[in-house]
Amino acid sequence: MIWNELLGHQGNVDFFRRGLANNRLASTYLFVGPSGVGKGLFARLLTQALICEEVEGLNACGQCSSCQQVHSESHPDVQVIRKPAEKSFLPVEKFIGDREHRMREGLCHFISLKPSGRYKVGIIEDADYLNAEGANSLLKTLEEPPAQALLILLSSSEQKQLPTIRSRCQIVRFGELRKSEIEQLLLKYKKADPQTVARIACYGNGSMARAEQLLDEEVLEFYEEFWKLLEKVGGNRDSTIKLVGHFCEQAGKESSRRRERMIMVCDFAAEHFRMRLTRLVERGHSSRELLEEYQDRLLACIERTFEVIDQVHANINQSTLLECWIDELILLLSGLPLPPSLVLPTIE
Ligand SMILES: [Zn+2]
Repeated sequence: MIWNELLGHQGNVDFFRRGLANNRLASTYLFVGPSGVGKGLFARLLTQALICEEVEGLNACGQCSSCQQVHSESHPDVQVIRKPAEKSFLPVEKFIGDREHRMREGLCHFISLKPSGRYKVGIIEDADYLNAEGANSLLKTLEEPPAQALLILLSSSEQKQLPTIRSRCQIVRFGELRKSEIEQLLLKYKKADPQTVARIACYGNGSMARAEQLLDEEVLEFYEEFWKLLEKVGGNRDSTIKLVGHFCEQAGKESSRRRERMIMVCDFAAEHFRMRLTRLVERGHSSRELLEEYQDRLLACIERTFEVIDQVHANINQSTLLECWIDELILLLSGLPLPPSLVLPTIE
């Protein structure tokens, strides 16, 4: 049973099982949820179910040549597009072809063709990186979807999509993985030792992608150190900058590798602030004013961190950027009594 590959998200499996049984699939789905929880795998398993020659309900056989071609992304009725590593957005050519082949190549053209089997499926893996031009080029396809076509967009949050896109998709939400599910996946697919697995699963934050990053000892050590510094960022400006700077340099001389590291650091920080925010909301605060003030400041930290990610992509000098960012975080977080301290999740 191919769905055994997937952990969690049973509600979504049932949703599509019913949809397919009642012949009620939408033409476009927007899968939203944190990265590394299985959205891409889900999209592939669903595609296999639509394309498989031996399918029963939502259960593709996983063995036939169609299933294998979907798996290797070589099936003539399936196209997967992703953001090229060197770009900061999905190029419009991916949707409507380059200037010489406008509307004769790209995903919109592909999806308009008659399928050789039952369905034509297009998967946009990095839909977070759709810019206005790319989104506009998709609109017509979303407004008048060709028969037998199915489009799946994968995104970390619906807020990252333009309203024009969002309103034309059926949204399917994917939650975080449970700690035990991350443990299972790490043990099964990564052959990691149980002690490391227990340590990482606590920090995995419901994302297998994050857990995989932390399998790297260098990253794990940095993560633990950085998290502690973020808790008292005000008093540790220089050590925080030094720690992050060193971590980025460890990636090697290549600037692309250093950029990747810096983005990883920003992700860790955003995660830290989000978790503080959640704790704050859960536990509340005796003073409502202070609670609101603190929420605003944490949200500003998250927003500022997302801006830094864009600036890293735009190749702004990384060490200057790092110093400015940490200074701004300190400003945002200083002068407020710390809320119930956010200690590292403990290993149970
Ligand atoms: Zn099959």
